[in-house]
Amino acid sequence: MLSVLVEPPGSTPPATPEAPPVPVAVQFEADIFQSPLPTWTPHCLGFGSPWTYCNGTALRACPSGAVWRHTGADLQTGIQPVSAAGDGVIVGYLTDPQFRGGVLIRHPTTTGVVITQYWHVWLRAGYSVGTPVKRGEVFADVADMGSLTHLHFAVFNGEFEPHAWNGALPPTACSGYPVFPYRFIDPTAFIQSHALVPLAPLARGIRIYSS
Ligand SMILES: [Zn+2]
Repeated sequence: MLSVLVEPPGSTPPATPEAPPVPVAVQFEADIFQSPLPTWTPHCLGFGSPWTYCNGTALRACPSGAVWRHTGADLQTGIQPVSAAGDGVIVGYLTDPQFRGGVLIRHPTTTGVVITQYWHVWLRAGYSVGTPVKRGEVFADVADMGSLTHLHFAVFNGEFEPHAWNGALPPTACSGYPVFPYRFIDPTAFIQSHALVPLAPLARGIRIYSS
């Protein structure tokens, strides 16, 4: 799973530091995105993984037993600032006892609207629904979830609607939810193809402490 997330099938090799190529998709400022954290190191769940805890315990399943699928990428992190992945406006903030805070940012790109989704964060003072943010602007902090602390980051390809909040969707029609992936797209591939610099994994050997 880890190697698949770091090097998706068909991806180009990492660019050399001397001459990072600028993808065609990022010729315009509105199309440039970056990692919401200084590093991009997958946690146990990637895009399309069964929605489970890291020990494999399912969080939600259809009556048939089919386990829901994860709409984003979970990133290893301690408690640290979270940056906007691109220029946009905060269009949603929810809090949940289990998942802490969730934030949605709407980005008008030259190829349409995308919404970036951040779960397990707390908005910083001065930020609320309607606040514009610039790419790289710190708007939140990773929430303390003890040994479960991580950042969930997803990319919804479309205008805001309630399903843009989903951290997981069913693999087959059940419970009235759309079937995975619906409008969610692979966040690792999206950031890789819209970033000015390659995603930076954590240096080998560095341990993540959540508190
Ligand atoms: Zn997640």
